[in-house]
Amino acid sequence: MLNNVKGVGSKTLTELKKLNIYNIEDLLTYYPYRYNYYKPQNINIANENTAITITGTIESIPKVFYFRKNFNRLTFKLLTNNQLINITIFNRAFIKPYLLLKKEITVIGKYTIKNNTLTASDIKLIPITKDYIEPVYHLIQTIKKQKLINLIKEVLSTNPYLIEYIPEYLLKKYKFLSKAELIKSIHFPNNITELKKSKVYFIYEELFIFMLKINYLKNLKNKKEKYKIKKFDYNKAQKIIDSLPYKLTSDQVNVIEEIKDDFNSSKIMNRILIGDVGSGKTIVSFMALYMNYLAGYQGILMVPTEVLSRQHYSNITKLFPMINIKLITSSISKSERINIIEELKDNKIDILIGTHSLLNTELIFNNLGLIITDEQHRFGVKQRQLLQEKGNEVEVLYMSATPIPRTLALTIYGDMDISQIVKKPQNRNPVETVIKSFKEIKPVLSLMLSELKKGHQVFVIAPLIDDENENSMESVNKLYDKINMAFKKKIPIDILHGKLKQVDKDKVMENFKINKTKILISTTVIEVGIDIENATMMVIFNAERFGLATLHQLRGRVGRNELDNYCYLISNYNLERLKILEESNDGFYISEKDFELRGTGDIFGTEQSGDVNFKIADLNRDYKILIQCKKDSEDFLKMHYHEINKYPNLEKILKDISIIN
Ligand code: ADP
Ligand code: MG
Repeated sequence: MLNNVKGVGSKTLTELKKLNIYNIEDLLTYYPYRYNYYKPQNINIANENTAITITGTIESIPKVFYFRKNFNRLTFKLLTNNQLINITIFNRAFIKPYLLLKKEITVIGKYTIKNNTLTASDIKLIPITKDYIEPVYHLIQTIKKQKLINLIKEVLSTNPYLIEYIPEYLLKKYKFLSKAELIKSIHFPNNITELKKSKVYFIYEELFIFMLKINYLKNLKNKKEKYKIKKFDYNKAQKIIDSLPYKLTSDQVNVIEEIKDDFNSSKIMNRILIGDVGSGKTIVSFMALYMNYLAGYQGILMVPTEVLSRQHYSNITKLFPMINIKLITSSISKSERINIIEELKDNKIDILIGTHSLLNTELIFNNLGLIITDEQHRFGVKQRQLLQEKGNEVEVLYMSATPIPRTLALTIYGDMDISQIVKKPQNRNPVETVIKSFKEIKPVLSLMLSELKKGHQVFVIAPLIDDENENSMESVNKLYDKINMAFKKKIPIDILHGKLKQVDKDKVMENFKINKTKILISTTVIEVGIDIENATMMVIFNAERFGLATLHQLRGRVGRNELDNYCYLISNYNLERLKILEESNDGFYISEKDFELRGTGDIFGTEQSGDVNFKIADLNRDYKILIQCKKDSEDFLKMHYHEINKYPNLEKILKDISIIN
């Protein structure tokens, strides 16, 4: 229990909860996301261009100078290696009380001989006398770094009980050290070798459990037979297809057929549809819902955002005016909600579209036959399972706009059948993509202006929200000022990023969708799946900061029309991998190339959550371990599927995910 730990009061408990730390295990598995390496050096080797780490004693009482608002400079003298030097550090007035005379400390920074001054970027209140690896944790304002470190140290000193998930024979096979040792060295490694060993263990552990869950689900699902095969008159579906304003691509037709065959077979459908952005997955999902309706069942379409749910709702009601379709989100009125609950129960609603609100236990279906989730990577296993509980024999279709190489798809979606839409609709012009350096920004701004004059809209992307003392990168806020200035504040501009509240995000997206704002400056959070036909230009600053898959996803926000569309990648680095985007608009091609260049590339970008939200593993970097875990978990299940009870720690995890059964 966390509250038994020394130094943990109710305030700390609340703080820890904000980091999703609820118990000792959570705390210990709150791994550092990176480490700082310190190597104490001699001041004699200092040069002005590289930071050095030196240890010494404080020889004068620090002085603090305040200037401008929120700005201060702290100075003192330090004796290091028989040399007295000046130390300057900015905005650290708060550490003055700790800088006691004769105290031994370590300072990191750049030294200029001319004025015998070291300008510190950091000060450690302890002396670092040998190589030292410092853990760095993702933290939020309320909990201090040292506090977290002390807590972890405290817990470790009590030799806490650690659950070992990995089966004994695998521990032996890989010669892993004891978990008690490993957990110590993942937080406080003595040297690099130790750190590497512990990392491999915890990555393996996480990926082994992940693959075990997937393979276990696969075993369960393969056995499930339908009680009743879905029968319906396909001609009716064909009529709708014939009435569309465009001709379906052959891939779209194939996927619809695959779904039809699943419906007509005795096995319960469990399928993922992977198709690049703009490949036309939505109409496929609508047809699946329609066929399911024709067979006499209710259907659900779950999407990650309200804006997207409204977009789908308005399109599907136009396509099927004769069926009863409802929209449920957290912002509908109470009476509307009650109404929906009633109608669902009475089997009056045929199709329900919505956000997470669909997971609400109040919603009881009369006869649910199909669940579709759009942008599936945004939902976790748990959420999907909650949905499946809503009916006995529901079939599922997941949709994902993340084109991934087939080998990887088989790993990640190993428990499902896979459909792909590879070719995009014909009428699409590829988005013209050009790399420009920061110096060449003027013509880009001119083109932006001419697009705006044509009444079109523009996306601008930056890697940061605020500049965070980071001068080498653009931020949303900086760009907002710059672009406003460039266009003399005459163009309505809005900003979007992850720190905004959901309601505000929705509002911003809504205003952009109805063409009230003309330029949207955003981080990579710009909503998945949003169809803004009128947007013709995307400018991505510091493009080198993003992986190819992310860049391709971003670019997919434009080019959803028959006009000329542009994507500018602004980067001072002449990167080979960015050129792949200039060459191609094909997500599968790009992901294969990316895969060749860097393992899984950034297929699962950091913004994405859901199943692939790991604490320490990284599918890009750890692809080899993933493959090993796939094999190990399959073998494990082959041998022990019927005697899982011999592995109580694993059994507990698997019970938790198989609540559907
Ligand atoms: P995504 O796969 O990213 O969800 P959408 O389903 O939103 O893509 O489709 C993008 C756009 O393409 C929509 O405006 C849709 O109406 C249109 N579309 C879909 N299929 C076709 C087709 N076969 N021919 C022409 N346009 C299509
Ligand atoms: Mg979509």
